Amino acid sequence: MMKLPMDVKGLPSPCYIIDEQLLEQNLQLLAKVQSDTGCRILLAQKGYSAFSTYPMVGKYLAGVTSSSLFEARLGFEEMGKEVHIYAPAYREDEFDEILRYCGHIVFNSVSQYVKFAPKVRAARAAGHTVSCGIRVNPEYSEIETDIYNPCFANSRMGTTLSQFEKALEQHPEVLQEIDGLHFHTMCEQGAEVLARTLPVVEQRFGKYLKGMKWLNFGGGHHITRPGYDVALLERCIVQMQQRYGVQVYLEPGEAVALNAGYLLTTVLDVLENGMRLAILDTSAACHMPDVLEMPYRPYIIGSGEAGEKEYTYRFGGPTCLAGDIIGDYSFDHQLQKGEMLVFTDMAIYSFVKNNTFNGMPLPMLATYSEKDGLKIVRKFGYEDFRMRLK
Ligand SMILES: *Cc1c(COP(=O)(O)O)cnc(C)c1O
Repeated sequence: MMKLPMDVKGLPSPCYIIDEQLLEQNLQLLAKVQSDTGCRILLAQKGYSAFSTYPMVGKYLAGVTSSSLFEARLGFEEMGKEVHIYAPAYREDEFDEILRYCGHIVFNSVSQYVKFAPKVRAARAAGHTVSCGIRVNPEYSEIETDIYNPCFANSRMGTTLSQFEKALEQHPEVLQEIDGLHFHTMCEQGAEVLARTLPVVEQRFGKYLKGMKWLNFGGGHHITRPGYDVALLERCIVQMQQRYGVQVYLEPGEAVALNAGYLLTTVLDVLENGMRLAILDTSAACHMPDVLEMPYRPYIIGSGEAGEKEYTYRFGGPTCLAGDIIGDYSFDHQLQKGEMLVFTDMAIYSFVKNNTFNGMPLPMLATYSEKDGLKIVRKFGYEDFRMRLK
């Protein structure tokens, strides 16, 4: 059974704690992949953007990727290394600012590139270095959850080969003007999936890769998960770099902060309705929405599967949403009101997705390291709820 490295007695609940040592271990592995292969790894801020840790992230990674103007600005201002961006469509009124922050811009289609190319050329004429690419849809993905599968039928994510070739007939100059291709087709997957995806990318888009400067493998690579085949990933990277003369980029979100955070919560009440129930001071809908969306079951320290230990509880949030249910967990002891529980792997896709639905307070955000101990990053209160409503 794992134990928390820090003493959490007296901390306000609920509270996220980012473990900087575990974060750094992940970063060290990613840095090794970079130095072994010459690839460049970016933090996908969509999954993790606790920027108080960006000085550490920036020590190891090449920079960030962004899914919006605000994420791009955050990465530019708080890390100050490479800033990449991809969005399914850009807004006319945001694009000039995007050009100020981003050295790499990935467009969802040839027509999005054509639309913004005059602004790109003007930025270059003004001395700004910007490299453009197109997100392709290789129409191959092994993701089984549709909402996380960018290659499902009628997907808006990226350009298929037939769309690409049709658009190039009208705009042949685009091939000379873009520097890279980007694909993102994976989610929490191993290097074997990448190794099966690359031949499809090559078969469809290989002839266009020859003249490119970079190829971005997207995110979804679960590199820091125990048992991940790092050597196979490295062979994939090296092979593509050698075969096509491109710089390979990877942009994981999850892998950067995988298993590097906790969410502390307190049992508010225990009751019974056909089974034992416990109401926590944290909500799936507000504080861990992936539990409902993915769906996924976060681990609680000291717990077992339903029925595995003597006392099984169904955990629900304090909101009025009937489906705000985290899951069923068993324990060796009967839970007491006021008892603290600890969810693990709560640094990714958690506080970046927080909301104050139902007037729920946002959990406090803290960091921990052996050297500095527990540090409060930010406490939230009523104003954080109120400010978005007026
Ligand atoms: C979500 C996303 C990522 C990061 O994915 P992870 O699963 O967190 O590694 C990277 N690139 C793009 C384009 C994405 O949409």
